[in-house]
Amino acid sequence: MRARTSEPAQDCALCPRLAAFRKENRKNYPDYFNAPVPSFAGAGARLLIVGLAPGLHGANQTGRPFTGDWAGDLLYATLLKHGLARGSYAERADDGLELIDCAITNAVRCVPPQNKPTPEEIKTCRPFLTAQIEGMVHLRAILALGKIAHDSVVSALNLKKKDHPFAHGAHYETAKLSLIASYHCSRYNTNTRVLTEPMFDAVVKEAKLAAMPQL
Ligand code: URA
Repeated sequence: MRARTSEPAQDCALCPRLAAFRKENRKNYPDYFNAPVPSFAGAGARLLIVGLAPGLHGANQTGRPFTGDWAGDLLYATLLKHGLARGSYAERADDGLELIDCAITNAVRCVPPQNKPTPEEIKTCRPFLTAQIEGMVHLRAILALGKIAHDSVVSALNLKKKDHPFAHGAHYETAKLSLIASYHCSRYNTNTRVLTEPMFDAVVKEAKLAAMPQL
């Protein structure tokens, strides 16, 4: 399927398990956003950051990628440090934080149970990722957070997975853009020090340089 739009409908039913989970969450958490979380920032950006999926009590609550999620603390602090965001991050969609020349999206737009989308769900949501990428006319670099996001981006770009394996710090050049991979900035990865702040800082710096070489 080829999505004409980069954003699924608010009541997207393409993944029955995720739609059922949404229904349950609307009942259990009526104040939450509880819908596919739209990408953050406009189509004019040169850098796209791709995460996995909204966290139940984070992005699924607030309606903005990584917002209210543990992973957002490190992500937004690092973007602010590198001039890729301005304002202050306050774990809510109306905190006024603005992204500068970058956008954030997720490989899977709906919150999955236990934070684990199935391979079928990742595939079903991919046309929205493809449309997001294709709609970004100034896109120069993609930073994928985690193997699932990386593999989905590789497929969205019609690249061969065997030629573009995931590794932290992997950097691939395609005809159109640079693709950089990082371990996901999840609580698990940072607590276990699989991903340290300096490691994440370095990879964001590299992605920024790839997207904005003159800076
Ligand atoms: N929140 C998101 O929006 N994406 C992730 O990958 C993790 C948390």
